[in-house]
Amino acid sequence: MKIQLPEFVQEILKKFSENNYEIYVVGGAVRDLLTGRSVDDWDFTTSATPEEILKIFPDGFYDNEFGTVGVSDASSTNPYEITTFRKEFGYSDARRPDRVEWGKTLKEDMARRDFTINAMALEKLKADHEYEIVDLFGGQKDLDKKMVRAVGDANVRFAEDALRMMRALRIAAELGFTIEEATLEAIKKNAALIGKIARERVKEELFKLLASPNPYEGILLFRNSGLMQEILPELEKAFGVEQKSPGRHHLYDVGTHLLMSLKACKSTDPLVRFATLIHDIGKPATYKKLPTGVITFYNHEVISTKIARNIAERLRFSNEETDKFVTLIRWHQFTVDERQTDSAIRRFIKNVGKENITDMLYLRVADRLGGGARETSWRLEEFKKRLIEVQKQPFTVRDLKIDGNDVMKTLDLAPGPKVGEILNALFEKVVEKELANEKEVLVKELKRIK
Ligand code: ATP
Ligand code: MG
Repeated sequence: MKIQLPEFVQEILKKFSENNYEIYVVGGAVRDLLTGRSVDDWDFTTSATPEEILKIFPDGFYDNEFGTVGVSDASSTNPYEITTFRKEFGYSDARRPDRVEWGKTLKEDMARRDFTINAMALEKLKADHEYEIVDLFGGQKDLDKKMVRAVGDANVRFAEDALRMMRALRIAAELGFTIEEATLEAIKKNAALIGKIARERVKEELFKLLASPNPYEGILLFRNSGLMQEILPELEKAFGVEQKSPGRHHLYDVGTHLLMSLKACKSTDPLVRFATLIHDIGKPATYKKLPTGVITFYNHEVISTKIARNIAERLRFSNEETDKFVTLIRWHQFTVDERQTDSAIRRFIKNVGKENITDMLYLRVADRLGGGARETSWRLEEFKKRLIEVQKQPFTVRDLKIDGNDVMKTLDLAPGPKVGEILNALFEKVVEKELANEKEVLVKELKRIK
């Protein structure tokens, strides 16, 4: 087939074949070329050893651990990675091979790769821009069927490296593919092995899945494959927890509501999607059914926040990610009421943080839609307008940490214009930064002028 590859990719292929080495484009790049996606990472495999690769590209960067040489041209952000054919032996820890040897053939190298759609190679032919796809495991057929299928015996492959199970789900979600039946069965069987994998690597795959165009389908697979039970057992517990009360509308059990919320979430940020997915995760623990048949989940957002913090820690979120995740869950039950005072709205903004308000609203809307409600209500629209209005308001006397009652009490004053005058005087001092806007400081000042 005729393909126009980037200049630098062509140059790499040319230099190796001029030196009589075999060289192929492999992995995700071939998969993405064949499905018409843009390619960000270019991976190559070659018969040349790392030392030989470095003779061809003396500026290449040799990564000892993976036996990969990274080369870059001036314009590239990601290095182009060139790896010698390899064979892998013995995976006694379900994580990585005990031993790696340079392979002699492309076939050996392809056989160690995870999925058929990732185990194809592109070979340059003599004619300009002519390439052949080397497809030893039926990758093209699976691309047509939109299927993720393990290379070889899926059971063996997942027992070798348990991260491949998360990769299968993630790649399926990214491409909108299903997982082939025997491959899915093998994940179910080996799901517990995911515990052997470093949590940051599991998190990375889960975030990629959530960031994909199909996060809801990806999370369904996550559940059906048994991996949810291993990685997020708190979420698995939410399924089957009923919410229906007489006279109140709740279409779904807690777990299904969470899935439907994720499905409805309009943010593309995996962290916001994740927060949406678990926002009610404290409900199972706070479930109460009153004699009237009414079900309550008193204080569930506080318990949800605790669980969210555990999850963030377990999956090694950064501090910044943890703060945002926990904040979105802690305040997701915020009140929307046209009778709210400006200061209540200001308190909301302070709790959630200005930078998180848009995402907080994404979560709220997803929560509504995921419960069968309409996307918005006039109250929510009013609230959004007031959020903007309140932020435009300048700092006023009403933002002081004491009010007229404090003044009257501290100074034994009766209501009257004097109270306002004193508040104004305090306000001036706070604006001039002579006083801090703290209750204690302001009361002390009142006592001083008494
Ligand atoms: P993307 O770069 O879009 O995440 P990719 O398929 O290129 O997808 P990489 O992690 O860059 O994924 O890996 C490159 C190739 O290496 C894969 O296509 C696959 O052939 C192989 N590979 C990666 N991880 C594994 C693994 N755990 N087991 C077996 N083969 C793997
Ligand atoms: Mg890649």
